[in-house]
Amino acid sequence: MKLDLDITPLADWLPRYKKPILIAGPCSAESEDQMLETARQIAEYYPDSIFRAGIWKPRTRPNTFEGIGDIGLSWMQEVKKQTGLLTATEVANAEHVDKCLKAGIDILWVGARTTVNPFSVQEIADALRGTDIPVFVKNPINPDAQLWAGALERVNNAGIKKLAAIHRGFHHFDNGPFRNSPKWELAIELKTACPQLPIICDPSHISGTPELIPYIAQKAMDLEMDGLMIETHRDPSVAMSDAKQQVKPFRLHEIIEDLNIRSSTIENPEFRNKLEELRSIIRKLDNDLLELLSKRMAISSQIGEYKRENNVTILQVAHWKKLFEESLNTGKVLGLPEGFVKGLYELIHDESIRRQTEVMNLNNKNV
Ligand code: PEP
Ligand code: MN
Repeated sequence: MKLDLDITPLADWLPRYKKPILIAGPCSAESEDQMLETARQIAEYYPDSIFRAGIWKPRTRPNTFEGIGDIGLSWMQEVKKQTGLLTATEVANAEHVDKCLKAGIDILWVGARTTVNPFSVQEIADALRGTDIPVFVKNPINPDAQLWAGALERVNNAGIKKLAAIHRGFHHFDNGPFRNSPKWELAIELKTACPQLPIICDPSHISGTPELIPYIAQKAMDLEMDGLMIETHRDPSVAMSDAKQQVKPFRLHEIIEDLNIRSSTIENPEFRNKLEELRSIIRKLDNDLLELLSKRMAISSQIGEYKRENNVTILQVAHWKKLFEESLNTGKVLGLPEGFVKGLYELIHDESIRRQTEVMNLNNKNV
């Protein structure tokens, strides 16, 4: 992919820039009190972060909470006044852009459901012409790097140079344990095509649950992404949108503190350079292995359900023996010692049986 963007480096426009840039705040603005209390708690830990809150929310079904609307802009102003945090919100049309510019919102972002539509993105880009407000462009919901690049180009062509991409995961038939499949390769493709483009990861929308956020955030850091957008709410249990994935400010602090921010600078000879390169490949492969194992186990559970519905036993010895032998042979061809493959397969098989047993016994009145 080819992508030529004219970008102002983050350090030139983000006051007190330090990697990773942190964008935190609730999924949605709900009340002035909710905004101010959440922002105050975030600012205590991270006075240099950017406060996010959705004011107009694109929702799949009508008659659900579609955002608090214009009143939220004045709450954003109050957050900025009281905490000094920069403010950011999502815009989906020209009217949103005009209202945000008037209200002095510091940063705008284009949401995943808007990036998919070139007409909408062009309308936003036209409304931005003549301003130099920073804009972040989320990846489209479908896994299409060209569409993502196209939206960035439209905004950049309108004269916006303070530009970054947000990686929030994709709708995909195979999401594994995630709400949205990370498909890291698409973010890497974008970065490779345009190395000066900052990329911010949104682990909240990828994960869909707080437990996976640290893992995704660490992986983003290991892939040298520039920042993190993490949905943070003073009390996620009462959030009006995305309640399941938001974290409290204290948890946000723990997640950020636990990150291992590895330096990518190469101080030494070729040897160190090469070593680091090989290690990072291993780290990525190990993460990939875990993701694959997690996917594999999800399929095992599905098979368990299928067997339960059809009243079939969990262990079918002939099938297992065949699978085992095939794997030993494949391992041999790939240069892996038999003992290693055997041990690995036994572990995988044990876990698979454990899961299927769990599924089998679900609603089993005899247990
Ligand atoms: C959000 O950030 O709350 C949001 C709606 O995100 P996305 O556009 O990534 O779904
Ligand atoms: Mn959200």
